[in-house]
Amino acid sequence: MSAVPGAVVDSFAAGLSGDLLAPEHPEFAESTLIWNAMIQKRPALVVRPSTTSDVARTVDFARQQGLELSIKGGGHNIAGLALSDGGITLDMSRVNTVEVDVLRGIARVGPGCKLGDVDRATQQHGLATTLGFVSETGVAGLTLGGGFGYLTRQFGWTTDDLVEVEIVTADGEVRRASREVTDDLFWALRGGGGNFGVVTEFVFRLHQIGPEVTAGLIAWSAEEAEGVLDLYRTITATASREMTSVVLMRNAPPAPWLPADKHGQPMIAMVVVHCGSPEQAAADLAPIINHGHPWADLIELKSYVAQQSMLDATQPKGMHYYWKSEFLAELSDELLATVRSQFDGLAAPANQIVLFQIEGALGEHDEDDGAVGNRDAAYACVIAALSPGPEAAAANREWVRLAWEAVKPFSTGGNYINFQTEDEVTARIGDSYRGNIERLARVKASYDPTNLFRVNRNIAPISGQG
Ligand SMILES: Cc1cc2nc3c(=O)[nH]c(=O)nc-3n(C[C@H](O)[C@H](O)[C@H](O)COP(=O)(O)OP(=O)(O)OC[C@H]3O[C@@H](n4cnc5c(N)ncnc54)[C@H](O)[C@@H]3O)c2cc1C
Repeated sequence: MSAVPGAVVDSFAAGLSGDLLAPEHPEFAESTLIWNAMIQKRPALVVRPSTTSDVARTVDFARQQGLELSIKGGGHNIAGLALSDGGITLDMSRVNTVEVDVLRGIARVGPGCKLGDVDRATQQHGLATTLGFVSETGVAGLTLGGGFGYLTRQFGWTTDDLVEVEIVTADGEVRRASREVTDDLFWALRGGGGNFGVVTEFVFRLHQIGPEVTAGLIAWSAEEAEGVLDLYRTITATASREMTSVVLMRNAPPAPWLPADKHGQPMIAMVVVHCGSPEQAAADLAPIINHGHPWADLIELKSYVAQQSMLDATQPKGMHYYWKSEFLAELSDELLATVRSQFDGLAAPANQIVLFQIEGALGEHDEDDGAVGNRDAAYACVIAALSPGPEAAAANREWVRLAWEAVKPFSTGGNYINFQTEDEVTARIGDSYRGNIERLARVKASYDPTNLFRVNRNIAPISGQG
């Protein structure tokens, strides 16, 4: 960056309607703050665009000056892919409007939106699109990597509801990509991450959801884990798609809804969301609510928006995080026994093993309907560690790696690109995209031949450019 003359930077800045932030700017620190404190990267400059032409200008500038360019949506990527180290970071946070077109059943969403921004706007009309479980996550990164959440069983990957995008590609051109226009680019954007340009608008299809759903969490002692996991397998085998459940094993947090003598004790919990009628939900959830001896039962009729942020407090910004994930086709006896035995060795209070049911609509598409693939996935298994500082990070990482190695033999062979950590390399990217990787590499070579967009799960080394 120091090789770029100051006058060139000044002239670039003068043409922006948004902001150029140097490290001494009072808002630089906030602009470069990301969720995972384990990642230490610092861009030389931040551009905070307010228009698509600001984005195009920044893409041209980075390309012409040979600078590394990164894109920050919500800054939630665990590998810290929002930030450039020494180059330019495009902080999209100011491009954050949501326009709901009720008649057409779509929402136009700015790339700086968090999931909660979209849910709050669409739920005013009783509508929603499939977004994830923590409302502070960025819509952009989640969508471009595939995206799943409580509505996945009904509607598929988030990218299955993506109908159109506006994007600035490496040549600085502003393009619209959709199923109708520029087929290959749109196909690649449905899972291929930030490899193809800077998305400046997402258009999502919406569905009628809520605004109230029957949802919440129910928790038991880990001593009941065998029975609860068995119940989870039975329930998820037959549950209607209006019901999604997630099972998680961790030590009980010091939460007011748990009796004080349970705090810190090994716990197994189910998070459930039922979008059907309250009567149907009561019938479908009865086997869960009546199971064993719950420590707490927080399942109730509540707003969908409230449910979408229920887990936020468990994933605070600024901790040291390390995860690994695999997709699973089924919950075999062996897999459940493995999960239980890894749970017994939990290294730290907040570490956890999570199983999300995602089976349903996503499996009704062809494997190559969008780059995301993995349409044989019935569950996502995530093994996650967090600690307040770096001290416990090495031990946590070791625990995650060992637990992941034990679970890996049960994988479909696929893993979620958006859950990959900084140290996961090219082979894991190939494992994520599986049969779609070669087409993805061709689209990358065609739209970004010089690999300008490389701060991501980068396809270029696979296409031979890297
Ligand atoms: C607490 C937590 C909970 C999560 N829960 C879920 C979940 O329920 N479901 C799920 O599917 N995922 C989930 N994720 C994973 C999440 O999808 C990824 O972390 C995703 O990368 C976050 O997007 P972001 O915009 O916040 O990321 P950022 O860190 O800002 O960016 C991540 C990547 O996206 C690219 N990118 C961002 N904006 C753009 C843009 N405008 N144009 C082109 N590329 C862009 C960047 O280049 C970068 O490579 C969760 C993550 C966290 C941390």
